[in-house]
Amino acid sequence: MSYIGAHVSASGGVENAPLNAARIGATGFALFTKNQRQWSTPPLTQKSIDAFRENCRAHSFVPAAILPHDSYLINLGHPAPMELERSRAAFLDEMQRCEALGLDKLNFHPGSHLKQISVDECLSRVAESINRVLEQTHGVTAVIENTAGQGSNVGFAFEHLAQIIDRVEDKSRVGVCIDTCHAFTAGYDMRNPESVFAELDRVVGLHYLRGMHLNDTLKDRGSHVDRHAPMGTGEIGIACFQYIAQRFKEIPLILETPDETRWPDEIAMLKSWA
Ligand SMILES: [Zn+2]
Ligand SMILES: [Zn+2]
Repeated sequence: MSYIGAHVSASGGVENAPLNAARIGATGFALFTKNQRQWSTPPLTQKSIDAFRENCRAHSFVPAAILPHDSYLINLGHPAPMELERSRAAFLDEMQRCEALGLDKLNFHPGSHLKQISVDECLSRVAESINRVLEQTHGVTAVIENTAGQGSNVGFAFEHLAQIIDRVEDKSRVGVCIDTCHAFTAGYDMRNPESVFAELDRVVGLHYLRGMHLNDTLKDRGSHVDRHAPMGTGEIGIACFQYIAQRFKEIPLILETPDETRWPDEIAMLKSWA
């Protein structure tokens, strides 16, 4: 089974996300379960949770097809103790929201060292953050997204992802999400996807792959700048997306491309290749 979709709006309530996904012909989707730019959001209501589950059932979206994304404010590798605690508390809340919605994954950016601690120390903090949150939750896998390496973000090298996983105690509940735009601008040649996934397998292990973000990019390979572009209109080109749709089943393949009016066509194209 292929799970193909986009990061859809949950505005007006999480229960709207599956409806928005169904409308564009998606068989999977991503969403924010709370406002991604605010620290505190009211808890999900039972009514909203029930409606989300009902709408998912009505449109045949199983948990395996859904890849929630956490807030952009969270930094699980923060150098300062108080900010780190605040991020850990917010991440726990996000994992618990996923639990309440019956979802089995939460996708997040690992963190930033803010030039105050070493990359290695930052990765250790991220792993410790994951360990603490996994201890307090059940059934939700922490899915680390590779980054473009903009600013002081860690997670742009596959080795970083491997080092975090290595320090996570419960390996059954940690995984990775590869964003094609981030990988390319971090330096990986996504025009030759076969070699990149062979490297991912060697360094991390493909059995940890829990989802993918399918974005083309406006920026050059190795630029460490994160600017998404519609599929086939950027530096990566269409062949990479064709390869991914054909090869990777049973995990969400999610568009985060900027022009939403293209999503129905992009999804139809991916489905035809799958
Ligand atoms: Zn992301
Ligand atoms: Zn992404």
